[in-house]
Amino acid sequence: MSVETAPAVLEVRNPADGSLVESLPIDDARAVNEIAAELRMAQVGWEAIGPEGRAAWLHRWRDWILAHADELTDLLVSETGKARPDALIEPVASCEFISYYADNAAAFLADDHVKPAGPMSLPKKLTKVYSPYPLVGIITPWNFPITLFLMDAAPALAAGCAVLSKSSEETPLACARLIEGWHEIGAPAVLASVTGLGETGAAVVDAADYVQFTGSTATGRKIGVHCAQQLKPYSLELGGKDPAIVLEDADLDRAVNGIAWGGLFNSGQVCISVERVYVAEPVYDDFVKRLTAKVDGLSQGAGAGSDVGAMVTTAQVDIADRHVREAVEAGARVLTGGQRGRAGNFFEPTVLVDVDHSMSCMTDETFGPTIPVMKVADEDEAIRMANDSPYGLSATVWTKDVDRGQRVARRLEAGAVNINDVFSNLFAAPLPHNGWKESGVGARLGGAYGIHKYCKVQAVTAPRMPTMKNELMWYPYS
Ligand code: NAD
Repeated sequence: MSVETAPAVLEVRNPADGSLVESLPIDDARAVNEIAAELRMAQVGWEAIGPEGRAAWLHRWRDWILAHADELTDLLVSETGKARPDALIEPVASCEFISYYADNAAAFLADDHVKPAGPMSLPKKLTKVYSPYPLVGIITPWNFPITLFLMDAAPALAAGCAVLSKSSEETPLACARLIEGWHEIGAPAVLASVTGLGETGAAVVDAADYVQFTGSTATGRKIGVHCAQQLKPYSLELGGKDPAIVLEDADLDRAVNGIAWGGLFNSGQVCISVERVYVAEPVYDDFVKRLTAKVDGLSQGAGAGSDVGAMVTTAQVDIADRHVREAVEAGARVLTGGQRGRAGNFFEPTVLVDVDHSMSCMTDETFGPTIPVMKVADEDEAIRMANDSPYGLSATVWTKDVDRGQRVARRLEAGAVNINDVFSNLFAAPLPHNGWKESGVGARLGGAYGIHKYCKVQAVTAPRMPTMKNELMWYPYS
């Protein structure tokens, strides 16, 4: 007699109060493989309808997402504990990626006729031809369940791939609803999601032809090894410890506002959060005074009407708490905040000073609402300290002289630099978004890079003039 075992279940809880939001069955490797096989079958027709046909479905999906932005935002608030404005930005802003790739895929994917480099290729017509990887696996973390999925799903679908999504086990609901929307509009069945922990993610790696992973550097390393064993292409968007540099000629009002938001948006759980600040000595005291007043005046709570929300897990609160405590024990001072909340996964918005690079708050990813500020003598010291990190995701520079900002940017070891601004690179669909050093491998989102990475490229040669006699030089036996 066979005994039926109930499928393992994932409980999704609201980080603000611990209440149960939903229980979902976990997909094991067999379920992942079955779904992957169905996606592969549907992908053939999807590729065949061409970029214009796919664009029409992508536009309809974007319209569905915008029409359901409130519902998606509610789901995000309940599973992530975000403040409502932090959640609403996800469905709304990410739609730009859908429009961008729907509108530009035909041009990006067109056969690319290239010029010969010299006499060896002169008699040849040289063409680059793009064709999609049939099945792309997209594995995402919990901090932006919709944005981080859509930024990759949009170009992959536009390229003609089928997409299998594995959201974080902490936050699977909003992304699953987004994918339901694809089916509600009647689009071809080339998009599906699976639910589960790391084992489900590993099954997605096995099933896919190309793997896009966004998450921690530790998990990214494992996935890189896993893909290498199967000689499978992959890209990794990983952790960061992004510096902000405030030069002595900065507009301090703008710098304070930008850095407060850059450090505290989404409770600091943003890969490109401001994680450490270097301020030139002449404006240090003034900057610290104004930043402390600004952070002090913010409200905290989940959902509507709050400036700073909850953190997704207790483990994240523990990291922020540990970084602050270790820094204080080593001589740092807390100017505001510094405590965990009495209930829910909250950590107070925090400003720390008298910090240095012997402290974890200045070297390890905190991923919390903490802003450590360090005094530096000048631009050179700021750049040296900013580059003193294994990470290289993004950076910000604050100066009234934009040319100077550009020069500083060139010297920073970071995949993106925003001058007098935060986060703007992330939502600039035509620009690449890619981590340097331990912040990423091959993970170029945005622009032509963002779609070409989901394509195999084929080099095709043909005689430029089929009747040309000198071609015979290639056939010495004829
Ligand atoms: P994580 O690495 O713990 O998990 C990410 C995803 O990987 C989850 O869906 C998880 O289930 C899955 N996973 C775990 N083990 C796996 C395995 N062996 N095989 C396949 N999948 C597996 O990351 P997290 O804690 O959810 O997210 C926070 C991290 O994400 C931070 O380090 C942050 O900096 C990083 N992040 C980076 C970017 C970027 O663009 N560079 C953006 C957002 C977040």
